[in-house]
Amino acid sequence: MLIVQSANSLIGVCLFFAIMYFPIVIFAQSPIHLPYTIEPADSLCYIDKARVHKQCCEIVKKMIADAKKENVYIGIRSAYRDSAEQAYQFYYLSDLYKQTMEQRLKHTAPPKFSEHHTGFAIDFMDLQYPKLSYSISFEQTPTFKWLQKNACKYGFVMSFPKNNKQNLQYEPWHWRYEGNEYARSKFEQSYKYRYQ
Ligand SMILES: [Zn+2]
Repeated sequence: MLIVQSANSLIGVCLFFAIMYFPIVIFAQSPIHLPYTIEPADSLCYIDKARVHKQCCEIVKKMIADAKKENVYIGIRSAYRDSAEQAYQFYYLSDLYKQTMEQRLKHTAPPKFSEHHTGFAIDFMDLQYPKLSYSISFEQTPTFKWLQKNACKYGFVMSFPKNNKQNLQYEPWHWRYEGNEYARSKFEQSYKYRYQ
């Protein structure tokens, strides 16, 4: 009898923890996207075909020029995107790659939830290794190694490092400028995930 009771209470304890923690296990990995206001077009400048915020335009140009002096050839694959452009990424491209909604949310922000709306987020590429753009293998490129060592001196940080607390895909190519108060204010809401 005692054994049956112990077994029952053990099952009870297991059930209790299963019920308590099941939602955490299920939802712990849910991607967290934060809302961003879309910067007006007149706050942007062009670097080649990419648009970046005027407030980081010169520093980005300088960063690219400084890297070039060390034979590192940084390019910009994508920077500012408005809501329609983000919708294209989120709906059209995801459909094209036949992603499930879960995969889509892990890889791409929905419109109005992308750091790219600020003009301060940049997807970098290595001009010598264009095929490694938007790939984890980008971290093998001289551009990534250079950014890892130097980007912080120019006010840039990687937005989604490995195991980031927003549960988003690791994106070694995606960096954001936080080098002045205005830029930093744009990303303040994400600090609780980054600097916890
Ligand atoms: Zn990006």
